[in-house]
Amino acid sequence: MVSFDVKSLFTSIPVNLAFTITKDRLQRDQNLAERSYLSVDNILKLSDFVLNHNYFKYDGDHYKQIFGCAMGSPISPVLADLVMEEIEETAISTFPRTLPNDTITSRRGTEIQVDVYRKPTHTDRYLDFFSCHPLCHKRSVVNTLMRRANNIPSTNKGRREEMHRVKAVLRDNNYPLSFLHNCERALTTQPAENNFNGFVVLPYVQSVSEKIGRILNQHKVKVAYKPQQTINSLFPRPKELDDSDRQKSGNVYKISCTQCNFVHYGQTQRSLKTRIVEHKKAVASFDQNSKVAGHVHLFGHRMNFENVEVVGFESNYHERLFLEAWHSTLDPNSGNDHILLPEVYKGIARA
Ligand SMILES: [Zn+2]
Repeated sequence: MVSFDVKSLFTSIPVNLAFTITKDRLQRDQNLAERSYLSVDNILKLSDFVLNHNYFKYDGDHYKQIFGCAMGSPISPVLADLVMEEIEETAISTFPRTLPNDTITSRRGTEIQVDVYRKPTHTDRYLDFFSCHPLCHKRSVVNTLMRRANNIPSTNKGRREEMHRVKAVLRDNNYPLSFLHNCERALTTQPAENNFNGFVVLPYVQSVSEKIGRILNQHKVKVAYKPQQTINSLFPRPKELDDSDRQKSGNVYKISCTQCNFVHYGQTQRSLKTRIVEHKKAVASFDQNSKVAGHVHLFGHRMNFENVEVVGFESNYHERLFLEAWHSTLDPNSGNDHILLPEVYKGIARA
């Protein structure tokens, strides 16, 4: 039995091979000029730079990746595809079928049988039917699995078994039977002719975006939906964070007066330490523009610079300004300037 799954695909792709294949493909591409303003030479220079400058941090030390494509780099899947295609074309050209990833073959006598392969660690967990995603995303989960069940297994029995398994797994992920049947039926019918006038991407808000999408569809505008909050946005950095990184990631902070209720909210992209030093300097130099310095000198009070409270982390400047305004609006003792909170939030802030 032979498995054609590639172990650690990205990090096993030799960068030089990937580069050679890319160069070859680009040079053979007749229509490149229509799709890109960049010349082959420029694309290669940029790819070379991206491929050979991958750094990561482990246990406090910085390392340079010297082999393979980087995990998480947007260029890696493209290069992995190109390299795999090339390997398939050259090495498996004697084999009667093209074998995509996720394939397993076994020999029955003189026959070679092909089936869908799942890693031992595969959990059968797919996008849940009840999760807040556009219906078309759920439909494409079903379509992908069903198409694979139809196309990969080389025997009728294999196709039947795979389809049976796919349906059972999707049922476990809460897909209704009727939905599966509809998808299965749609797979065998020809897709409708697509002549759209435009294309828009809408942020997905359940039950609102789909209505807007339907109206746009009537005007022949193709619509794609983008989920607003993804796992990736919740955990954007798989790399190790230390305290200094955290301080750099953008803070919204609160400085309190030691002698009265006065508080000052502020925000900074830089480290909190640097910003607090600036506040102290402003106090020492009687800075007219500083509200903190103003309070200290007007009342002769002392600000508690030793215990500055971080009330929010946010790397986006505008969202930081919003958080600063939000906390300042909620806190009747705040004495700092901030942006005006949009009207819609005021009701919540007062509640
Ligand atoms: Zn005070």
